[in-house]
Parts: sequence; structure tokens; C-alpha cells
Amino acid sequence: MTRTILVTGGAGYVGAHTVRHLLDNDIHPVVIDNLRTGFRAAVPDGAEFVEASLDDTEALDGLFREYAFDAVMHFAANSLVGESMEKPWLYLNDNVVNGLNLIRRTAEAGVKRFVLSSTANIFDCRTGATLDESAQIAPPSPYGESKHMLERILHWADETLGMRSACLRYFNAAGAHADGGMGEAHDPETHLIPLVLQVALGQREHISVFGDDYDTADGTCVRDYVHVMDLADAHLRVLDALDDQSVRYNLGTGSGHSVLEVIETARTVTGHAIPAIMAPRRPGDPPVLVACSDAITRDLGWRPRHGLKSIIETAWTWHRTHPVGYGR
Ligand code: UDP
Repeated sequence: MTRTILVTGGAGYVGAHTVRHLLDNDIHPVVIDNLRTGFRAAVPDGAEFVEASLDDTEALDGLFREYAFDAVMHFAANSLVGESMEKPWLYLNDNVVNGLNLIRRTAEAGVKRFVLSSTANIFDCRTGATLDESAQIAPPSPYGESKHMLERILHWADETLGMRSACLRYFNAAGAHADGGMGEAHDPETHLIPLVLQVALGQREHISVFGDDYDTADGTCVRDYVHVMDLADAHLRVLDALDDQSVRYNLGTGSGHSVLEVIETARTVTGHAIPAIMAPRRPGDPPVLVACSDAITRDLGWRPRHGLKSIIETAWTWHRTHPVGYGR
């Protein structure tokens, strides 16, 4: 029988790519998204779509009455570290309250599987070490804290009610679907790879490199860029693991790339010069963030299929063919 999954934030970047992956695997996604940061056009054909916020309890209750969900995948959230330092309540209130209500309704509806879109930002990343699931948790921002709180709520939903959950801590999600029809779109854009490709497209004059005096090989920050379809794949794999127990996994490639390496790879992929200028450090940026994802490889056979070049190639196809994203 076809499984039906409630996907919150399915019009957003990682959410929409995961919806696509579910459809390709004969799973029926029902998307709820308020389109505040997501795009209606990002929701793949074949998915049900309800435009509503998660604080719209009537809409949510209606969905739980209408469908017998096999699982809930929760992507809908405010997700910018920098913004969370300026607007903490958007995160400590909205992310947590909306997530809590959703988790509670999921449990009350008798749905036993919940997948949380979590983040590397829950970790104390000052050590520069490769982070596995045993790394010290000390969220450096209200954003990371909001995800950590939801992870804790899920822990107790399992302990007390037997609702199984998977907390997936993404490192730097990037790249686009191979068919070029969907990709990353934020307004305003703050992420490195789309900004670099906007320079290649002539939409920006240069890319600013936020700090070149870090304690790294070339002085710029190092990140673990993981392809969005590899993330989507992880979401599907964890579903079956949830029959027995709750799980938490760090999702990255295990390879770090500096800002300058990203720019250089983009120059090679696009054939454009991509001028870069040095700029001050961005407050709150950890020098190095790299995942150890051995646990999900060992348990579920998950292996990232895309490296940095393939991430930038797929992103470039998307940006080149959709210079204004989804067109809003
Ligand atoms: N970055 C940069 N210039 C930009 C945007 C980002 O140098 O215009 C750097 C940023 O300081 C970080 C890395 O690129 O070291 C990745 O940033 P992004 O915002 O993509 O992801 P984050 O790691 O903050 O989640």
C-alpha cells in the first residue's frame, strides 16, 4: 500500500527536494507550507498542497483527520543563524512552539514516526574537530537551540509515548536536482554557493569572502557541503529504521572545503572569472564545520553520492536555467 507522509515546509529547499524523492519512490506526500519563504512552484507535481502555517491548528487537525499518515517530516522553520541572533523570538518562540504543536498532534493522532530536519548548529563547533553524534551539544545560536529543543521534545515523545523519531543534523545543504528543474532559492540569498553562482551569472559584481584570517589552511572558513538529494535520500532511509527505535544522525560528506575552494571550483565549472574580495568576518561563523557520518553509513548504508564539483554543477544548471529562481 502506498505510504502517505505529511511534509511541513515542502515548498522550501530541502523539503521540496525530499518531496520529489518521495514521489519517485511511490510515496504520497501531503505538503503544508505557508509560502513565507517557500515557493508554490517548488512543490513537485503529484504532491498534495495545503497553504497554511503550522500555528493554524484547524488546518493541521483537518489534515490529521483526513489522512492516515505513515510519518511526518518536519522541515518548516526559520533557518538562518545570523537572523536568529537578531530576532531570537522568531526561533525560540515560533520554531519551538510550532514544532511542539506539530509533535504533540502527531503523537495524538497515533502517528508513530517523525523525521526532524535538524542542524549542525546544535553542536559546540569551536573545537574544529570532525563532528559525530557524540560531539558536545552546545548550540551557538537561537536557531541551533530551537532545533535542539525539538530534539529533546522528540526524545520524551519516544520515552513516554513510543513515538519514534529521526533527528537529521544537516551540515551545509547545497546543490540541485539533476534534472535542473528545482534548486535553491532564498530571498534574500545569504548562502555561499548560490551567491557565487549569481556572480557567475552577472547578477552580482563580486563575492565577498567573510574573513581570510581564520586558523585554516587558506585562512577562510571550511564547511562540509552535502548535496540536497543525498539529504533527501537519508530521509527515506531513516523511515524504515524507525520501526525499532529513534535515531539521530549527522549528515555530511566528511570532507571540508574552504570558501576559496568553493569559489575556485565554481570558476572551473562555470568558466566565469567570479571576482572575490576580502571582507570582515561574519559574526558567529565557526572556522571549521565538518561531519562524521559513519553512523548512518554503517546502520543504513547511506553514502553521499555527490562531492563539491557535482554539487556546484547541479546548482549551476539550476541557476543558469532559472536566473530568477521560481520567479517570485
Ligand atoms: N560566506 C562568504 N561570503 C558570502 C556568504 C558566505 O564568505 O557571501 C562564507 C560564510 O562565512 C561561511 C561559508 O561561506 O564560512 C558558508 O556560509 P553559508 O551562509 O553558505 O552557510 P553556513 O555555514 O553559514 O550555514
